[in-house]
Amino acid sequence: MGSSHHSTPPHPLSDHVDLPSSSSTPSVVAAYAVPTPSFTPNSAANTRSSAPVRKSSGQRQGGASPGPVYSRLRLRGPGIWRRWILIISISILTFHLYRSLAPQDLLSTLPAEWRNDKTLSSILQPVTPESRSKRKKHDPMQWLKDHSSFDSQLPNSYTTRPRAALISLVRNEELDGILQSIRHLEYQWNRRYRYPWIFFNEKPFSDEFKAATSNATDARTEYHVVPREHWSTPTWIDQTRYMDALDYLGTIGVGKGHMLSYHSMIRWQSGFFYHHPALSSYTYYWRVEPDVHFFCPIPYDPFSFLAENDLVYGFNMAILDDARSFTSLWSVTRDFIAANSELVHPDADLDWLLDARNGGEYNNCQFFSNFEIGSLDFWRSAGPSAYFDHLDKNGGFFYERFGDAPVHTLALAMFARKDQVWFFRDVGYQHDIARHCPPASASVTLQGAGAGTGGGEQAREEAGGGFGLGPRGANGQYHSEAGAGAVRAAEAAEAARRVRHETTGRPWWNKAWTKAGTQGAGAGARAGASAGAQSEVAAVGVGVCACEPTSLDENFYKLVPMESPQVKPGDTCIRLWLGGEWLSKKDGWKQDVERAFGGDGYGGYVLDGM
Ligand code: GDP
Ligand code: MN
Repeated sequence: MGSSHHSTPPHPLSDHVDLPSSSSTPSVVAAYAVPTPSFTPNSAANTRSSAPVRKSSGQRQGGASPGPVYSRLRLRGPGIWRRWILIISISILTFHLYRSLAPQDLLSTLPAEWRNDKTLSSILQPVTPESRSKRKKHDPMQWLKDHSSFDSQLPNSYTTRPRAALISLVRNEELDGILQSIRHLEYQWNRRYRYPWIFFNEKPFSDEFKAATSNATDARTEYHVVPREHWSTPTWIDQTRYMDALDYLGTIGVGKGHMLSYHSMIRWQSGFFYHHPALSSYTYYWRVEPDVHFFCPIPYDPFSFLAENDLVYGFNMAILDDARSFTSLWSVTRDFIAANSELVHPDADLDWLLDARNGGEYNNCQFFSNFEIGSLDFWRSAGPSAYFDHLDKNGGFFYERFGDAPVHTLALAMFARKDQVWFFRDVGYQHDIARHCPPASASVTLQGAGAGTGGGEQAREEAGGGFGLGPRGANGQYHSEAGAGAVRAAEAAEAARRVRHETTGRPWWNKAWTKAGTQGAGAGARAGASAGAQSEVAAVGVGVCACEPTSLDENFYKLVPMESPQVKPGDTCIRLWLGGEWLSKKDGWKQDVERAFGGDGYGGYVLDGM
């Protein structure tokens, strides 16, 4: 910690004095109980009863002590009574004033069984400005339409700019890798937003690291050391068992499972990063790892996007990992739920994570957490913290390799509504072998697309471009009619016209959000609609992402080694999360038949995922 670039944000409580709320009544009473000539000006009663004292104020100006005046007052019987009546009536007035200002607690007036009813209690919560803003349902799609543009994006041109930071746990040796990530993200996004970069390390950062990283951005940079107790092995861990586990994980080939540091890392990313004091005044974070790539310009502020749409987390790949690294995670999680059901969100939805064909076990799907944009307040809330403590006591960060990805995923499923999680399909991103690229960014050029022959294919990709950010269905999941069923060519032409119309002036963003146009255009392309209309669609804003588009299912089981015997879910993780039509299969298609012929069993979808 501590460097020329280090500037710790002020702690929210450090620069103001906290007055206990209960102090108002006693202090008002005290003002009268201890008589002084300087009266609180807003009390009419006070003025009326204080004629003798006012006389004394004149004496005081002359420098005389008020003492004798007061003792004379005390000697007069009716004076004492008047004073006590005054004190009591002011206390009563203050109490009523306080009651009228404090929010009404309707729940406390209800019978106990009503208070315990979750639905009732959520309906009957007092409406305070805070709860009202929480309930306000924004339309994320509309928000994106209103806020996506490359103009007006310097700090301060925003109505809301959340306290947010780009955060990175990184080693000094990974300097080149983090510089690469910084360059990409700065270029595609942060040069227009200038959110601070906050770096964490269990060792002090080198001067070289600080100089090079601070040179790579116009934004502020900070460098912090992880507290020792957040990185060391806790006392309740049996060292012998831990060392055996390292050997075992190394022998069976669980990625990085043999590395001591990796176990500290997953534990920190699972449960400690959000408690670091450097983040205490922040509400949102974007996690960035070394050596990652960002392929597409991002013409809006994802932090504001989350904040203004009541979202707590955004991901861009949902994948399987080697399940041998967290064999007991689900049973430990189940125990947690049984013992702490009151912490689980009333609208929690774990369905997409539980495999009915496999005895309701966890299907091992997870948000690939090296990319995540999320709410720190969510992680700091009671549920996630308690869940982490429970896992930590169990020892699975050491005896196994409880990754922060499955831990975060299960926590989100338990403690947030599913529609508070967002799929950033529009963010082109790569981490090692896993790469996600929005289909809208087909590598055709404007001229090439206009030529005609490639138009059909391009328009088909358009259909996929709409889904990631498509409106959510009643159950809070995304869904889109893109490509569902036969759509006549006439409709496709109309859709193409709409796409062209809606995207004027927003060259990049069209494919990601103009679902109204893309659903028809995509279906039309399938139906063989006119090449002319399609190429017009394709001509709008293509070639902006520097990557080849990837299918939705692209990274699904890339990280599962061949030798891992784990049961793969019936559907790919992202489709399980999306739900609805994304799960429908072509008539007559059978998973086991596809596998019998050497396929992986995920080739039967009606919507092909592009
Ligand atoms: P993987 O993505 O699961 O393969 O894991 P990584 O090796 O990329 O580590 C995840 C993140 O933690 C990256 O940002 C690393 O830079 C960081 N990290 C991993 N181990 C250490 C460590 O021992 N010290 C520090 N400071 N950072 C680490
Ligand atoms: Mn990594």
